[in-house]
Amino acid sequence: MNLTDHAARSSWLEVPAESHFPIQNLPYGMMLRAGETHAGVAIGAHVFDLTLASREGLLPSKAFFAGPDFNAFAAAGLSAWSAARERVGRLLSAEEPTLRDDPRLRETLLVPQSEVTMLLPVTVGDYTDFYSSKEHATNVGTMLRGAENALMPNWVHLPVAYHGRASSIVVSGTEVRRPLGQTRPDPAAPPAFGPTKSLDYELEMAAIVGPGNTRGDPIPIEDAEDHLFGLVLLNDWSARDVQAWEYQPLGPFLAKNFATSISPWVVSIEALEPFRKAGPTQDPKPLPYLHQHGRTTFDIRLEVSIQPIDGEATTVCVSNFSHLYWSLGQQVAHHTVNGCPLRPGDLLASGTISGPTPESAGCLLERTWRGTKPITLANGQTRRFLEDGDRVTMTAWCQGDGYRVGFGEVTGVVLGVR
Ligand code: MN
Repeated sequence: MNLTDHAARSSWLEVPAESHFPIQNLPYGMMLRAGETHAGVAIGAHVFDLTLASREGLLPSKAFFAGPDFNAFAAAGLSAWSAARERVGRLLSAEEPTLRDDPRLRETLLVPQSEVTMLLPVTVGDYTDFYSSKEHATNVGTMLRGAENALMPNWVHLPVAYHGRASSIVVSGTEVRRPLGQTRPDPAAPPAFGPTKSLDYELEMAAIVGPGNTRGDPIPIEDAEDHLFGLVLLNDWSARDVQAWEYQPLGPFLAKNFATSISPWVVSIEALEPFRKAGPTQDPKPLPYLHQHGRTTFDIRLEVSIQPIDGEATTVCVSNFSHLYWSLGQQVAHHTVNGCPLRPGDLLASGTISGPTPESAGCLLERTWRGTKPITLANGQTRRFLEDGDRVTMTAWCQGDGYRVGFGEVTGVVLGVR
Protein backbone atom coordinates (compact mmCIF):
# COMPACT_ATOMS: atom_id res chain seq x y z
CA MET A 1 0.00 0.00 0.00
CA ASN A 2 1.25 3.49 -0.87
CA LEU A 3 0.97 5.43 2.39
CA THR A 4 0.85 8.86 0.76
CA ASP A 5 -2.15 7.77 -1.28
CA HIS A 6 -3.61 6.27 1.89
CA ALA A 7 -3.51 9.61 3.74
CA ALA A 8 -4.91 11.47 0.74
CA ARG A 9 -8.01 9.28 0.34
CA SER A 10 -11.30 10.97 1.08
CA SER A 11 -15.00 10.15 1.14
CA TRP A 12 -17.97 11.98 -0.37
CA LEU A 13 -19.29 11.85 3.20
CA GLU A 14 -17.80 14.62 5.32
CA VAL A 15 -15.59 13.24 8.11
CA PRO A 16 -13.97 15.67 10.59
CA ALA A 17 -10.17 15.37 11.06
CA GLU A 18 -10.55 14.22 14.67
CA SER A 19 -13.11 11.50 13.83
CA HIS A 20 -11.94 7.98 14.63
CA PHE A 21 -13.64 6.62 11.53
CA PRO A 22 -12.37 8.20 8.28
CA ILE A 23 -12.19 6.21 5.03
CA GLN A 24 -8.66 5.09 6.07
CA ASN A 25 -10.13 3.04 8.94
CA LEU A 26 -13.34 1.18 7.96
CA PRO A 27 -13.77 -0.92 11.13
CA TYR A 28 -16.40 -3.66 11.38
CA GLY A 29 -19.22 -3.68 13.94
CA MET A 30 -22.54 -5.45 14.56
CA MET A 31 -25.54 -3.25 15.29
CA LEU A 32 -29.18 -3.42 16.22
CA ARG A 33 -30.94 -1.39 13.51
CA ALA A 34 -34.71 -1.09 13.72
CA GLY A 35 -34.89 -4.27 15.77
CA GLU A 36 -32.69 -6.34 13.42
CA THR A 37 -29.05 -7.35 13.72
CA HIS A 38 -27.04 -5.87 10.86
CA ALA A 39 -23.34 -5.85 10.05
CA GLY A 40 -21.76 -2.46 9.42
CA VAL A 41 -18.65 -0.40 8.84
CA ALA A 42 -18.17 2.89 10.69
CA ILE A 43 -17.65 5.97 8.52
CA GLY A 44 -17.56 9.34 10.32
CA ALA A 45 -20.63 9.62 12.54
CA HIS A 46 -22.47 7.02 10.43
CA VAL A 47 -22.53 3.29 9.84
CA PHE A 48 -22.46 1.85 6.34
CA ASP A 49 -24.92 -1.07 6.46
CA LEU A 50 -23.16 -4.17 5.07
CA THR A 51 -26.23 -6.38 5.45
CA LEU A 52 -28.37 -4.12 3.26
CA ALA A 53 -25.49 -3.40 0.85
CA SER A 54 -25.20 -7.18 0.36
CA ARG A 55 -28.93 -7.42 -0.38
CA GLU A 56 -28.49 -4.61 -2.95
CA GLY A 57 -25.81 -6.75 -4.63
CA LEU A 58 -23.06 -4.23 -3.92
CA LEU A 59 -20.66 -6.53 -2.05
CA PRO A 60 -18.68 -9.57 -3.20
CA SER A 61 -20.25 -12.05 -0.74
CA LYS A 62 -23.72 -12.04 0.77
CA ALA A 63 -23.05 -14.82 3.26
CA PHE A 64 -20.57 -12.94 5.40
CA PHE A 65 -22.84 -10.09 6.45
CA ALA A 66 -26.15 -11.80 7.21
CA GLY A 67 -25.32 -11.85 10.94
CA PRO A 68 -25.57 -12.49 13.81
CA ASP A 69 -21.77 -11.99 14.11
CA PHE A 70 -18.59 -11.65 12.07
CA ASN A 71 -17.24 -15.13 12.90
CA ALA A 72 -17.66 -16.54 9.37
CA PHE A 73 -16.09 -13.43 7.86
CA ALA A 74 -13.24 -13.57 10.38
CA ALA A 75 -12.67 -17.22 9.45
CA ALA A 76 -12.53 -16.38 5.73
CA GLY A 77 -9.15 -14.70 6.09
CA LEU A 78 -7.05 -12.06 4.37
CA SER A 79 -8.31 -12.39 0.80
CA ALA A 80 -11.96 -11.99 1.88
CA TRP A 81 -11.08 -9.09 4.21
CA SER A 82 -9.10 -7.30 1.50
CA ALA A 83 -11.83 -7.76 -1.10
CA ALA A 84 -14.52 -6.39 1.24
CA ARG A 85 -12.35 -3.51 2.42
CA GLU A 86 -11.47 -2.60 -1.14
CA ARG A 87 -15.14 -2.67 -2.20
CA VAL A 88 -16.49 -0.71 0.78
CA GLY A 89 -13.65 1.82 0.46
CA ARG A 90 -14.52 2.32 -3.21
CA LEU A 91 -18.26 2.78 -2.53
CA LEU A 92 -17.47 5.44 0.07
CA SER A 93 -14.69 7.22 -1.85
CA ALA A 94 -15.13 10.71 -3.22
CA GLU A 95 -14.62 9.58 -6.86
CA GLU A 96 -17.25 6.83 -6.79
CA PRO A 97 -20.77 7.86 -7.90
CA THR A 98 -22.77 4.72 -6.93
CA LEU A 99 -23.85 6.06 -3.53
CA ARG A 100 -22.62 9.61 -3.85
CA ASP A 101 -25.12 10.37 -6.61
CA ASP A 102 -27.99 8.16 -5.42
CA PRO A 103 -29.97 9.70 -2.51
CA ARG A 104 -32.22 6.60 -2.12
CA LEU A 105 -29.25 4.27 -1.79
CA ARG A 106 -27.48 6.63 0.64
CA GLU A 107 -30.59 6.86 2.78
CA THR A 108 -30.87 3.07 2.86
CA LEU A 109 -27.25 2.20 3.45
CA LEU A 110 -26.10 4.93 5.85
CA VAL A 111 -27.48 5.19 9.36
CA PRO A 112 -26.31 7.67 12.06
CA GLN A 113 -24.43 5.87 14.83
CA SER A 114 -26.73 7.66 17.29
CA GLU A 115 -29.69 5.68 15.90
CA VAL A 116 -28.27 2.19 16.42
CA THR A 117 -27.21 0.06 19.36
CA MET A 118 -23.87 -1.65 19.00
CA LEU A 119 -23.55 -5.37 19.80
CA LEU A 120 -20.61 -7.71 20.33
CA PRO A 121 -18.88 -8.02 16.94
CA VAL A 122 -18.10 -11.73 17.31
CA THR A 123 -19.29 -14.71 19.31
CA VAL A 124 -16.29 -15.32 21.53
CA GLY A 125 -15.55 -18.99 22.10
CA ASP A 126 -12.38 -18.67 24.12
CA TYR A 127 -10.73 -15.72 25.82
CA THR A 128 -7.07 -15.50 26.80
CA ASP A 129 -5.55 -12.66 28.79
CA PHE A 130 -1.81 -12.10 28.37
CA TYR A 131 0.41 -10.14 30.74
CA SER A 132 2.63 -8.51 28.14
CA SER A 133 3.53 -5.12 29.65
CA LYS A 134 6.85 -5.26 31.46
CA GLU A 135 6.03 -2.07 33.37
CA HIS A 136 2.68 -3.48 34.55
CA ALA A 137 4.14 -6.87 35.52
CA THR A 138 7.00 -5.17 37.36
CA ASN A 139 4.72 -2.78 39.25
CA VAL A 140 2.20 -5.45 40.26
CA GLY A 141 4.97 -7.90 41.16
CA THR A 142 6.65 -5.27 43.32
CA MET A 143 3.42 -4.63 45.23
CA LEU A 144 2.59 -8.32 45.71
CA ARG A 145 6.03 -9.86 46.22
CA GLY A 146 8.54 -7.03 46.70
CA ALA A 147 10.96 -5.35 44.27
CA GLU A 148 13.50 -8.18 44.30
CA ASN A 149 10.90 -10.77 43.13
CA ALA A 150 8.84 -8.43 40.93
CA LEU A 151 9.27 -10.26 37.63
CA MET A 152 9.04 -14.04 37.79
CA PRO A 153 12.01 -15.77 36.06
CA ASN A 154 9.81 -16.92 33.14
CA TRP A 155 8.50 -13.44 32.29
CA VAL A 156 11.28 -12.32 29.91
CA HIS A 157 11.29 -15.69 28.12
CA LEU A 158 7.63 -16.19 27.25
CA PRO A 159 4.40 -14.18 26.99
CA VAL A 160 2.69 -15.16 30.26
CA ALA A 161 -1.10 -15.57 30.08
CA TYR A 162 -4.12 -17.21 31.67
CA HIS A 163 -7.37 -18.54 30.21
CA GLY A 164 -10.24 -16.17 30.97
CA ARG A 165 -13.99 -16.52 30.78
CA ALA A 166 -15.82 -15.88 27.47
CA SER A 167 -19.32 -15.92 28.99
CA SER A 168 -18.91 -12.56 30.76
CA ILE A 169 -17.53 -10.58 27.81
CA VAL A 170 -19.85 -7.63 27.22
CA VAL A 171 -20.01 -4.79 24.73
CA SER A 172 -19.21 -1.18 25.57
CA GLY A 173 -22.05 0.56 27.43
CA THR A 174 -22.98 -2.45 29.53
CA GLU A 175 -23.22 -1.64 33.24
CA VAL A 176 -20.96 -3.56 35.60
CA ARG A 177 -22.19 -4.50 39.06
CA ARG A 178 -19.70 -4.46 41.94
CA PRO A 179 -19.01 -8.13 42.64
CA LEU A 180 -19.17 -9.97 45.93
CA GLY A 181 -16.27 -12.13 46.93
CA GLN A 182 -13.99 -13.65 49.47
CA THR A 183 -11.07 -11.58 50.72
CA ARG A 184 -8.56 -11.71 53.53
CA PRO A 185 -7.82 -8.15 54.62
CA ASP A 186 -6.28 -9.30 57.91
CA PRO A 187 -3.89 -12.27 57.53
CA ALA A 188 -4.25 -12.97 61.26
CA ALA A 189 -8.07 -13.26 61.00
CA PRO A 190 -10.31 -15.62 59.00
CA PRO A 191 -11.34 -14.60 55.45
CA ALA A 192 -14.15 -12.07 54.96
CA PHE A 193 -17.05 -12.02 52.47
CA GLY A 194 -18.72 -9.00 50.85
CA PRO A 195 -18.59 -6.45 48.02
CA THR A 196 -15.09 -5.82 46.69
CA LYS A 197 -13.53 -2.73 48.26
CA SER A 198 -10.95 -2.36 45.48
CA LEU A 199 -12.70 -2.48 42.13
CA ASP A 200 -10.35 -1.60 39.29
CA TYR A 201 -10.16 -1.32 35.51
CA GLU A 202 -7.36 -2.63 33.29
CA LEU A 203 -6.53 -0.78 30.07
CA GLU A 204 -6.00 -3.43 27.42
CA MET A 205 -6.37 -4.09 23.73
CA ALA A 206 -7.48 -7.44 22.34
CA ALA A 207 -6.91 -9.20 19.05
CA ILE A 208 -9.82 -11.10 17.53
CA VAL A 209 -8.74 -14.34 15.90
CA GLY A 210 -9.60 -14.83 12.22
CA PRO A 211 -8.70 -18.19 10.67
CA GLY A 212 -7.77 -20.63 13.40
CA ASN A 213 -5.39 -23.59 13.36
CA THR A 214 -5.96 -27.31 13.53
CA ARG A 215 -5.16 -28.92 16.87
CA GLY A 216 -1.56 -30.06 16.75
CA ASP A 217 -0.48 -27.50 14.11
CA PRO A 218 1.26 -24.47 15.63
CA ILE A 219 1.00 -21.09 13.87
CA PRO A 220 4.54 -19.98 12.93
CA ILE A 221 5.38 -16.46 14.03
CA GLU A 222 5.81 -15.19 10.46
CA ASP A 223 2.17 -16.12 9.69
CA ALA A 224 0.73 -15.02 13.02
CA GLU A 225 -0.74 -11.63 12.05
CA ASP A 226 -2.60 -13.21 9.11
CA HIS A 227 -4.64 -15.05 11.74
CA LEU A 228 -5.90 -11.81 13.31
CA PHE A 229 -9.19 -10.30 12.13
CA GLY A 230 -8.48 -7.05 13.98
CA LEU A 231 -8.15 -5.23 17.29
CA VAL A 232 -10.56 -3.80 19.86
CA LEU A 233 -10.20 -1.97 23.19
CA LEU A 234 -10.75 -4.08 26.29
CA ASN A 235 -11.44 -3.24 29.94
CA ASP A 236 -10.55 -6.17 32.17
CA TRP A 237 -12.55 -5.18 35.28
CA SER A 238 -10.76 -6.51 38.37
CA ALA A 239 -11.50 -6.91 42.09
CA ARG A 240 -8.04 -6.47 43.62
CA ASP A 241 -8.82 -7.64 47.15
CA VAL A 242 -10.40 -10.84 45.81
CA GLN A 243 -7.46 -11.30 43.44
CA ALA A 244 -4.80 -10.88 46.14
CA TRP A 245 -6.38 -13.65 48.23
CA GLU A 246 -7.35 -16.13 45.50
CA TYR A 247 -4.60 -15.86 42.88
CA GLN A 248 -2.00 -18.31 44.22
CA PRO A 249 -1.12 -20.77 42.79
CA LEU A 250 -3.26 -20.77 39.61
CA GLY A 251 -3.83 -17.10 38.81
CA PRO A 252 -6.96 -14.93 38.47
CA PHE A 253 -10.42 -16.48 38.82
CA LEU A 254 -13.43 -14.70 40.36
CA ALA A 255 -11.51 -11.41 40.62
CA LYS A 256 -11.74 -11.10 36.83
CA ASN A 257 -14.53 -13.24 35.39
CA PHE A 258 -17.54 -11.16 36.46
CA ALA A 259 -17.21 -8.77 33.48
CA THR A 260 -14.85 -7.92 30.61
CA SER A 261 -15.90 -5.05 28.33
CA ILE A 262 -14.83 -4.57 24.70
CA SER A 263 -15.31 -1.77 22.18
CA PRO A 264 -17.70 -2.61 19.33
CA TRP A 265 -15.54 -1.67 16.31
CA VAL A 266 -12.95 -4.13 15.00
CA VAL A 267 -10.03 -2.24 13.44
CA SER A 268 -8.10 -4.31 10.88
CA ILE A 269 -4.33 -4.76 10.83
CA GLU A 270 -4.49 -3.32 7.30
CA ALA A 271 -5.88 -0.04 8.66
CA LEU A 272 -3.08 0.04 11.26
CA GLU A 273 -0.24 -0.55 8.75
CA PRO A 274 0.78 3.14 8.44
CA PHE A 275 1.32 3.23 12.21
CA ARG A 276 3.74 0.33 12.53
CA LYS A 277 6.81 0.78 14.68
CA ALA A 278 9.49 -1.26 16.38
CA GLY A 279 8.71 -2.71 19.79
CA PRO A 280 10.96 -2.55 22.87
CA THR A 281 14.35 -4.28 22.67
CA GLN A 282 14.01 -7.84 23.97
CA ASP A 283 16.84 -8.90 26.24
CA PRO A 284 17.44 -11.81 26.67
CA LYS A 285 16.76 -12.76 23.06
CA PRO A 286 13.69 -15.01 22.97
CA LEU A 287 13.84 -18.62 21.78
CA PRO A 288 13.77 -19.14 17.98
CA TYR A 289 10.01 -19.78 17.73
CA LEU A 290 9.50 -16.26 19.16
CA HIS A 291 12.10 -14.49 16.98
CA GLN A 292 10.79 -11.52 15.10
CA HIS A 293 12.33 -8.49 13.51
CA GLY A 294 11.21 -5.24 11.99
CA ARG A 295 8.25 -3.14 13.03
CA THR A 296 6.21 -5.58 15.06
CA THR A 297 3.90 -3.20 16.93
CA PHE A 298 1.77 -0.11 16.35
CA ASP A 299 1.79 3.47 17.62
CA ILE A 300 -1.69 3.59 19.22
CA ARG A 301 -2.39 6.30 21.79
CA LEU A 302 -4.53 5.05 24.70
CA GLU A 303 -6.49 7.07 27.27
CA VAL A 304 -8.60 6.25 30.31
CA SER A 305 -11.04 8.61 32.04
CA ILE A 306 -13.14 8.34 35.18
CA GLN A 307 -16.41 10.25 35.40
CA PRO A 308 -18.04 10.33 38.84
CA ILE A 309 -21.83 10.27 39.00
CA ASP A 310 -22.00 14.01 39.80
CA GLY A 311 -19.07 15.42 37.86
CA GLU A 312 -17.17 15.67 34.62
CA ALA A 313 -14.71 13.09 33.30
CA THR A 314 -11.04 13.28 34.26
CA THR A 315 -8.32 11.68 32.13
CA VAL A 316 -6.39 9.47 34.55
CA CYS A 317 -4.08 7.63 32.14
CA VAL A 318 -2.33 8.21 28.82
CA SER A 319 -0.46 5.18 27.51
CA ASN A 320 0.53 3.58 24.20
CA PHE A 321 0.08 0.11 22.69
CA SER A 322 3.75 0.14 21.63
CA HIS A 323 4.89 -0.02 25.28
CA LEU A 324 4.01 -3.73 25.24
CA TYR A 325 7.07 -6.00 25.49
CA TRP A 326 5.54 -9.03 23.75
CA SER A 327 4.05 -8.48 20.27
CA LEU A 328 0.79 -9.81 18.84
CA GLY A 329 2.79 -12.21 16.66
CA GLN A 330 4.69 -13.57 19.64
CA GLN A 331 1.46 -14.05 21.58
CA VAL A 332 -0.11 -16.08 18.74
CA ALA A 333 3.05 -18.13 18.12
CA HIS A 334 3.44 -18.92 21.81
CA HIS A 335 -0.26 -19.69 22.33
CA THR A 336 -0.21 -22.32 19.58
CA VAL A 337 3.34 -23.71 19.84
CA ASN A 338 2.08 -26.74 21.79
CA GLY A 339 -0.64 -27.37 19.20
CA CYS A 340 -3.43 -25.52 21.01
CA PRO A 341 -6.14 -24.66 18.45
CA LEU A 342 -7.32 -21.06 18.14
CA ARG A 343 -10.76 -20.57 16.62
CA PRO A 344 -12.37 -17.69 14.71
CA GLY A 345 -13.75 -15.15 17.19
CA ASP A 346 -11.38 -16.05 20.02
CA LEU A 347 -10.19 -13.03 21.98
CA LEU A 348 -6.51 -12.57 22.82
CA ALA A 349 -6.13 -9.69 25.26
CA SER A 350 -2.81 -7.92 25.77
CA GLY A 351 -2.81 -7.50 29.52
CA THR A 352 -2.79 -4.08 31.14
CA ILE A 353 -0.83 -1.63 28.99
CA SER A 354 1.27 0.53 31.29
CA GLY A 355 4.10 2.85 30.33
CA PRO A 356 7.16 4.07 32.22
CA THR A 357 5.53 7.03 34.06
CA PRO A 358 2.87 7.11 36.83
CA GLU A 359 0.49 8.86 34.40
CA SER A 360 0.79 5.96 31.97
CA ALA A 361 -0.14 3.29 34.53
CA GLY A 362 -3.03 1.32 32.98
CA CYS A 363 -4.96 0.47 36.16
CA LEU A 364 -5.71 2.09 39.52
CA LEU A 365 -3.75 -0.55 41.43
CA GLU A 366 -0.60 0.88 39.86
CA ARG A 367 -1.83 4.47 39.40
CA THR A 368 -2.57 4.87 43.13
CA TRP A 369 0.08 2.33 44.20
CA ARG A 370 -2.45 0.01 45.86
CA GLY A 371 -4.45 2.95 47.16
CA THR A 372 -1.57 4.62 48.98
CA LYS A 373 -1.37 7.56 46.53
CA PRO A 374 -4.97 8.55 45.70
CA ILE A 375 -5.62 10.51 42.50
CA THR A 376 -7.76 13.66 42.44
CA LEU A 377 -10.61 14.05 39.94
CA ALA A 378 -11.72 17.34 38.36
CA ASN A 379 -14.56 17.72 40.88
CA GLY A 380 -12.10 17.54 43.79
CA GLN A 381 -12.98 13.99 44.85
CA THR A 382 -10.21 11.47 45.26
CA ARG A 383 -10.06 7.84 44.12
CA ARG A 384 -8.06 4.89 45.40
CA PHE A 385 -10.29 2.44 43.55
CA LEU A 386 -13.61 2.78 41.68
CA GLU A 387 -16.77 3.91 43.46
CA ASP A 388 -20.38 3.12 42.62
CA GLY A 389 -21.63 5.40 39.85
CA ASP A 390 -18.19 5.90 38.31
CA ARG A 391 -18.05 5.70 34.53
CA VAL A 392 -14.78 4.34 33.14
CA THR A 393 -14.10 5.16 29.49
CA MET A 394 -11.14 4.02 27.42
CA THR A 395 -10.33 5.37 23.99
CA ALA A 396 -7.54 4.85 21.47
CA TRP A 397 -6.37 6.21 18.15
CA CYS A 398 -3.48 6.40 15.72
CA GLN A 399 -2.64 9.94 14.60
CA GLY A 400 -2.05 10.24 10.85
CA ASP A 401 -1.30 13.31 8.80
CA GLY A 402 -4.64 15.11 9.03
CA TYR A 403 -6.67 12.07 9.99
CA ARG A 404 -7.03 9.49 12.76
CA VAL A 405 -7.54 5.75 12.72
CA GLY A 406 -9.41 5.24 15.98
CA PHE A 407 -11.12 2.58 18.02
CA GLY A 408 -14.01 4.64 19.39
CA GLU A 409 -14.41 3.79 23.03
CA VAL A 410 -15.20 1.15 25.58
CA THR A 411 -17.24 2.54 28.46
CA GLY A 412 -19.13 1.21 31.46
CA VAL A 413 -20.71 2.45 34.70
CA VAL A 414 -20.15 0.76 38.06
CA LEU A 415 -23.38 -0.23 39.81
CA GLY A 416 -23.60 -0.85 43.55
CA VAL A 417 -24.41 -4.28 44.96
CA ARG A 418 -28.05 -5.28 44.62
MN1 MN B 1 -5.95 -8.27 32.51
